[in-house]
Amino acid sequence: MKIGVPKEVSEGEARVAMTPDSAAQLQKLGYDCAIESGAGRLAGFADADYKAAGVEVVKTAAALWKGSDIIAKVRPATGTELKRLVKGQTLISFFDPSGNDAGMEAARKSGASVIAMEMVPRISRAQKMDALSSMANIAGYRAVIEAGGNFGRFFTGQITAAGKVPPARVLVIGAGVAGLAAIGTSTSLGAVTLAFDVRPEVAEQVESMGAEFVYLDFDEAQDGAATGGYASVSSPEFREAQLAKFRELAPDIDIVITTALIPNREAPELWTEDMVKAMKPGSVIVDLAAEKGGNCKLTVKDEKIVTENGVTIIGYTDFPSRMAAQASSLYATNIRHMMADLTPEKDGQIHHDMDDDVIRGATVVHAGEITYPPPPPKVQ
Ligand code: NAD
Repeated sequence: MKIGVPKEVSEGEARVAMTPDSAAQLQKLGYDCAIESGAGRLAGFADADYKAAGVEVVKTAAALWKGSDIIAKVRPATGTELKRLVKGQTLISFFDPSGNDAGMEAARKSGASVIAMEMVPRISRAQKMDALSSMANIAGYRAVIEAGGNFGRFFTGQITAAGKVPPARVLVIGAGVAGLAAIGTSTSLGAVTLAFDVRPEVAEQVESMGAEFVYLDFDEAQDGAATGGYASVSSPEFREAQLAKFRELAPDIDIVITTALIPNREAPELWTEDMVKAMKPGSVIVDLAAEKGGNCKLTVKDEKIVTENGVTIIGYTDFPSRMAAQASSLYATNIRHMMADLTPEKDGQIHHDMDDDVIRGATVVHAGEITYPPPPPKVQ
């Protein structure tokens, strides 16, 4: 079978779903590989690099889709792309199954199968295919770099002949994948880093990275009753205690990185307008939850704004694409591990085993049927 990778068509998307390295691995699984000319250019991979790795370079998207049994891409297919999907083909990409009814229906009608990368269950065996995590890791890192680019001071404290500089104080809210990456980046740049999460089990990890875990004066466990590595909604009393703590911290925090996420819900609002007002001029907020409404009340999705009191709020939703070379390498590796799971015989043939938790979890459309949402995984 042939795996084809088209050029991403969404505006500003610079990632690509296959690299020359991943193509070499896919060929070891028995597949032929093809790529649309120019698909890797914005991520730093030239057509010649793919050719050297044994990949066929195809001139047009139409020819690429027509000639491929499996299409791998990054962003959910657009209307034009979905029209190209045919019976028996398999599409592997992010697909947003819960918010993309039209795409799901178009895929169902086509008779193709769709594997949605955001649906890979968060179980140990599937970590190597977990593209949400690999992209969140990049987003957490880049959030701190972006904050640094907009913060007019050092991260690290310095004593110089020209004066003493205090270290920046960074607060990371939500210590999941993106949050932990942000904490690691922030501490390595020398900032005093504080972190908060509703899941108390992450405190040790936060502290082992050199950051300070923020505890609340609250009787019950600091707990959003986590399931499968994700948080659930916290009680109103807990939320009040959390906001009171943030209010207390706000005047002395220079940079806030918010990453709080509860699956399939709007982002919880945790950094309120009065907290923004209490921050010093020159402070920066990077709201990674902007896509789902934002953790900060004033965030504007995909924009950078500066408030009247001089606080910069960044709501970009494309951090992985802003690091396209790194993001493409990691995403392409996730895809090739997914292909390895789908190809147990290494014979270049997809074996769509719906008894496999990972494949079942990620398959949202299969042979003319919508198979989303999946049953809960059997293995943790
Ligand atoms: P994750 O599930 O690993 O982490 C989210 C964390 O938030 C969890 O640890 C959870 O316990 C915590 N949380 C939930 N409610 C909270 C609350 N009320 N207070 C404090 N913590 C709370 O998710 P992730 O993969 O790290 O992703 C984090 C966010 O980053 C998501 O919103 C995701 O969509 C976003 N993201 C943004 C970009 C971008 O370019 N902007 C890219 C990738 C991911």
